[in-house]
Amino acid sequence: MSWNAKQKLLFLEGKDSDYFQSYSRLETHMNMLRDSVRMEAFRDAIVQNRGLFQDKIVLDVGCGTGILSLFAAEAGASKVIAVECTDIADLAEEIIRDNQKEDVVKVVKGLVEQVELPDGIEKVDIIVSEWMGNALYMEAMINSVLFARDKWLTRGGRILPSTGNLWLMGAYDPHRRTNLNFWCNVEGIDMGCVKKPFSQEPLVECVPIQQLLTDECFIHSTNLAVARNQPVQFQSNFQLKVMRTGIINMLVLYFDVLFPSGKSNKSVTLSTSPHSPWTHWEQTVLHLDEPLYVRIRDRVRGELAMTPTGQDGRGMNFDLHLSFRGERTRVESFKSFCSSS
Ligand code: SAH
Repeated sequence: MSWNAKQKLLFLEGKDSDYFQSYSRLETHMNMLRDSVRMEAFRDAIVQNRGLFQDKIVLDVGCGTGILSLFAAEAGASKVIAVECTDIADLAEEIIRDNQKEDVVKVVKGLVEQVELPDGIEKVDIIVSEWMGNALYMEAMINSVLFARDKWLTRGGRILPSTGNLWLMGAYDPHRRTNLNFWCNVEGIDMGCVKKPFSQEPLVECVPIQQLLTDECFIHSTNLAVARNQPVQFQSNFQLKVMRTGIINMLVLYFDVLFPSGKSNKSVTLSTSPHSPWTHWEQTVLHLDEPLYVRIRDRVRGELAMTPTGQDGRGMNFDLHLSFRGERTRVESFKSFCSSS
């Protein structure tokens, strides 16, 4: 069964409902709309890109409150189709009417995988979507964007954002005892045996730059113009260069997405790096069982594999192999079920 057929079936059976339930809540949308870094990036990439949007037909995949559709209308689009499957679609319709854009923006309520475009439209010139989850690929919403691309994007059409990159760093969390230490001494009782069969969860945290110990290493990239619509899974080798002597007890994942630049505007990057201003994605942290005692200029090598998990395929497994100074290779595994970011 293809990925999209599988997603569709899960949705119909209600197994995808946890995911969409969180997006039915206004609070989830408010958190996104309050993220000024996210908002500014999309606003600059769309509104200041009139050359790209003028008189174009735009599809907004997962429009939520309709904010990106309204940006596209402001940038001169002739028609915007705003697809949203939760009840927030009704609200989007009202917001669009209240802002006198109902002639341009048309809300279509339903799964992008199931709807038809209105007014006999068969192709779109531009797709906009805010699909990114924690560690970039959680939520697997990227597949809905790629589905829309394959079905409706005209040849030479554009997708905003156009590329996503995932990065890794090593860092020290001074407040966290390693899990191994924790289990080995719970109120004086050795529970060390419980650790092995259970994989841990990656955590979403804001990592202060003072805690970073390595440079960043590129892990994976998706170019939305050409990526195949299939579940994102990969294995990537990495090498982290230690910049400060210390203890690495966590690995930090973050992403950035790039927007294409038009003739008159400069390209926009939305970064969730610890070095960049705060976003609601923060960073995704893999807390290590055993710390690595590193010195400046050491190299930490490893391999990170990410594979979709969970009944709805919207979570992610992270399998980590770490090798350092010829010690035995350490293997750790993390599993994250999906929650919307
Ligand atoms: N574009 C809005 C919302 C982004 S959150 C903004 O930038 O503020 C992603 C939205 O996409 C959620 O509202 C979610 O319900 C919707 N969504 C996710 N997958 C979808 C799908 N397959 N079809 C329709 N809507 C989807």
